[in-house]
Amino acid sequence: MQDKQILVVEDEQRVADLLRDYLQQDGFEVHCLYSGGGVLEWVREHQPDLILLDQMLPEQDGLSILRQLRTEASIPVIMATARTEEIDRLLGLESGADDYVCKPYSFREVVARVKAVLRRQQATAPQHSDELLSPLVLNEDTCSAAMLGREISLTVIEFRMLEALLRRPGQILSRDQLMDLIYSDGRIVSDRTIDSHVRKLRAKLTLGDNQQSPINSVYSAGYKLDLSAISE
Ligand code: CA
Repeated sequence: MQDKQILVVEDEQRVADLLRDYLQQDGFEVHCLYSGGGVLEWVREHQPDLILLDQMLPEQDGLSILRQLRTEASIPVIMATARTEEIDRLLGLESGADDYVCKPYSFREVVARVKAVLRRQQATAPQHSDELLSPLVLNEDTCSAAMLGREISLTVIEFRMLEALLRRPGQILSRDQLMDLIYSDGRIVSDRTIDSHVRKLRAKLTLGDNQQSPINSVYSAGYKLDLSAISE
């Protein structure tokens, strides 16, 4: 679990500090935010591995943050709430939380939940160690992809685009979603710019004349990744 970064969003500073201590003891890197405002910006910028999100927060409540977050990222979220009547809502499909904890909670239990959610995530998300299983693997250190063992150099934009698609195989990502995921500075570019990056990426991922690109364009909706299109 080392080098995993956890974002703690909690307006009770004492609780936030204790959470930080407990998580750090387990080797996590922890950042605390004490209000709901600016959470989305921070997440876009730093891409934490997991977010511990309090429901009742000044400026923007946890559930509304989560809803917005879910349109653009698949980072695991554990919601914290003091209101037991909210649990059903938090667990509902609508919210998209990966787990929840009830306040007052045991800090040890929160740490255990964090580890469990990360383990689950690791089991489903493509990882470097899955190289033998996945036909397409990213290497952030060299800004490249390995497709069926062949190394493909990527630009930073192409890398982030492929990473965004690879984290959500089969899911359609709109140009706006791709834009938010690719440009951490919140920059707005035209649809044509996104299309042009996709075109170059598709060309790089098409290895032979008879090969289909694993990136599919879905008319008027966006793009999705189909790993089954990759074959020898
Ligand atoms: Ca609170």
